[in-house]
Formats: sequence, C-alpha cells, structure tokens
Amino acid sequence: MVNGYDLVVIGGGPAGMMAAGRAGERGKSVILLEKNADLGKKLLLCASGRCNVTNTASIPVFLNAYEKAGPFMRPSLGAFFHEKLRLLLSSYGVETFEESKGRVYPKSQRAESVRDALLSYLDVHRITLKKKSRVLSVRAENKEVIGVETEDGFIPGRNVLIATGGLSYPSTGSTGDGYGIASSFGHTICTTYPAIIAFETEETWVKQVQGTPIKNVQITACQQGNKIAQHFGEALFTHYGISGPAVLSISKRIMENFGNGVIRIRIDFKPGITPGELDTLLVKKINSNGGKAIKTCISHFVPERLSPLLLSTCGIDEKKKASQVTAKERKKMLEQLKGLTLTVSSHRPIEEAIVTGGGIDLNEVESRTMESKLINGLYFAGEVLDIDGPTGGYNLQAAFSTGFLAGNSVC
Ligand SMILES: Cc1cc2nc3c(=O)[nH]c(=O)nc-3n(C[C@H](O)[C@H](O)[C@H](O)COP(=O)(O)OP(=O)(O)OC[C@H]3O[C@@H](n4cnc5c(N)ncnc54)[C@H](O)[C@@H]3O)c2cc1C
Repeated sequence: MVNGYDLVVIGGGPAGMMAAGRAGERGKSVILLEKNADLGKKLLLCASGRCNVTNTASIPVFLNAYEKAGPFMRPSLGAFFHEKLRLLLSSYGVETFEESKGRVYPKSQRAESVRDALLSYLDVHRITLKKKSRVLSVRAENKEVIGVETEDGFIPGRNVLIATGGLSYPSTGSTGDGYGIASSFGHTICTTYPAIIAFETEETWVKQVQGTPIKNVQITACQQGNKIAQHFGEALFTHYGISGPAVLSISKRIMENFGNGVIRIRIDFKPGITPGELDTLLVKKINSNGGKAIKTCISHFVPERLSPLLLSTCGIDEKKKASQVTAKERKKMLEQLKGLTLTVSSHRPIEEAIVTGGGIDLNEVESRTMESKLINGLYFAGEVLDIDGPTGGYNLQAAFSTGFLAGNSVC
C-alpha cells in the first residue's frame, strides 16, 4: 500500500473487529493487526463460552449503567445499538435470543459462532488481517497519524484505531498496551482497577464450602454500619472468599469504597420473609423434627454443605437434637440465616476481573467520532477507554458500539 491504509486497527477483539468491518463496508482500505495467533480470544470466554452479546434494555438504561461514561456513550449507542448488532449477526447466520433480565445470547450458545460471524464480516469487506503482529507504537508527524511500528516493521496508515482492551485475563492478549501508546501522545490514563471482581474474606471456613452456590439470596455490602450496595440473586463460596453473579454485580460499589474502612458482606438466605416469619418456620421445623439433629432442620433453609458451618458460627454442635436447642440458640440461628456476615480482606487481582475500570480519559476523545482530541487520525474503541458497565451484555455492547462509530467516522 503505497500511501498507506485508510485505517490501521490495533487489536482483534470485538471493538477492533467491528471497527474494521464497518470501515471496510464503507469502502475504506483497512488492516487489522492482532498480536495473538487468533482473533477474539476474550470474546470466546464470554459468559463461560455462551457469550452474552448485548441486552435488550433501552438506551436510557444503558446510559445509566455506564454511569459517568453514560453521556459519552450516547452517540455510539445511537449509531449502533442492540437491534443493529443482532441484525448484523443474523445477516452472518447467527440468530440470537433473549434470556432473563434482557440478556441476549446466540441461539447456538457458542461464542465461536459470534466470532465466526465477525470474521465473515471482515472477510466480506476485504479487511487485511495480520495475526501474530504486535504493535509497539503509533507514529505521528505534526500531530497527524502516519502509521504504526510493529515487531516486523512500519505499516503506514492515515488513521489508527487503538482497540487493545483492558488489563484483565492477560492470557487473552489484553495486557494494557494501548495505555502506553496513548500516553506517549499526552493522553491521560484514568487509574485502572478491577471493576467486576470477586472478594477474599477473613473467614477461612469458606474454603470448606468452596464451589457451593447459594441461590435467591440478598447480598448486602456495608461499611461502618452504612449500606453501600445490595443485590438479589446467586452467590458462590470459593476457596478464597465469595463470588457469583450477585457479588460481581455490586463489586464496583465495593471497589469504590475500598480503603475507606472495613467492608462486610451480609448474606440474607431468606430475603422474602421477615425475621418473625422465619422464626415461625424455624420453630415449626424444630417441633416436627425434635428427635433429629438440628443440622437437619437448618438444611431446609441453606444448602446442606453449609449447615454445619452455619451452626458452628452460632456455637451450636450440629449433632445436637433439635428439641434441645435453646431459645437463645434459635435466636442466633435466625440472625445468621438473615445475615451471615463475611469480612472483606481484599479483592481478587485485576487479571481476574471481568472488566477493567479506568482507562483512556473520555474528556480527551470526541464522543461523536471516537477520534482523539489531541492527535488527528488517532481513534479509540472498546475497553481501553474509561468505560465499563455491569454484567448482562453491557460491556460487549460498549465495545461493538464504540468500534462501529470509529469505523463509521474515519475519513
Ligand atoms: C471471563 C470474561 C467473561 C466476560 N463475559 C462477558 C459477557 O458475557 N458479556 C459482556 O458484555 N462482556 C463480557 N466480558 C467483557 C468483554 O469480554 C470485554 O469487555 C470485551 O472483550 C472488550 O472488547 P475489546 O475489543 O475492547 O478488547 P479485548 O476483547 O480485550 O480485545 C483486545 C485485543 O487487542 C489485542 N492487542 C492488545 N495489544 C495489542 C498490540 N500491542 N498489538 C496488537 N494487538 C493487540 C489483544 O490480543 C486482543 O485480541 C467478559 C470478560 C471476561 C474476562
């Protein structure tokens, strides 16, 4: 290419693939550089390989979900929202369906089908793919992009898109390369942190029940007696502490309050009923199982594996006969069933996060085009930006929407 490509895309994740495809569709000459041997490695991990591509929520709900990045996301969601994404996937043979809470998955329930559709999109629009090609830097002259330096040499281009992702799951290729490239042009990188993450706890007994899911529970995070976040759903004990959808859902709030004092996670096993109603049920169980071990009664309210541990936190021998349990002991059990408490000692490392918080400062990027406000021809899309959403398809939609808008804007 004598005069260089119209667009050089760095990174073959969802954002990079969408941008390349869209620019190609508009007749632009595009090369996509991916440092791995394959594109979309992280995409394949999404929703345990099922790939929650987007959500059917409305634009206002999406904007709210991105919190402070919401206003920035308005133009890209306006240009390419979930309906268009689903149509595009469908045109490449991937039908999607909606599950609970508006979550959208491919009918195949296989992330590979989504990646294959995006690869076809690139192929149809004659995008040049260069795999195992790591970009080291972007070159500019007089504040105009002129191309990129790779491990194999210089590739000229009039526009360059940085779509290198965040910092989580580095084995997928997301190792934060884009931050260094952007900061070499004076871009500000907002402090990065794990935005959707699990927590370690001081209580080591969790290890004994690792892998035990607890369903339909209310998870509440508190600090100095104040509630900082709450979510109803499923949690999971792990060898280090606690994880699971309900915990991940409130993890950003917990992260924001980290370092401001001890954080406790309370589990209400029966959120639908009052302590008084639960006590009535407990008394009933105890009366009808008087000759049996108290463990049998408690197992009606929590998973069986958890019963002995819950009783030990109350100082009650699991083999004690139900009829011998005192009123004081029953009160203690009630307290634990309505609020078993774990003390957060740490968060898991960013490498284990579902999404990276922080990244390229949005104030320095034009939201209507995704172009840098500092360097002409430099664009950004996807998780490398300071954008993150909750679980439920919000992060992939952000990658697809910002990628589409960048590919739609390059001249
Ligand atoms: C386990 C897991 C499950 C998830 N599940 C979901 C889900 O179901 N739904 C959802 O919405 N979100 C989910 N996410 C989040 C979602 O996967 C990411 O937000 C999304 O992949 C970000 O896309 P991206 O294109 O910006 O970056 P990435 O997908 O990280 O892609 C970046 C690409 O750039 C390449 N690259 C990096 N540096 C260079 C370089 N110097 N030169 C060349 N190439 C480079 C990388 O190798 C990589 O291929 C999940 C994340 C994880 C970790």
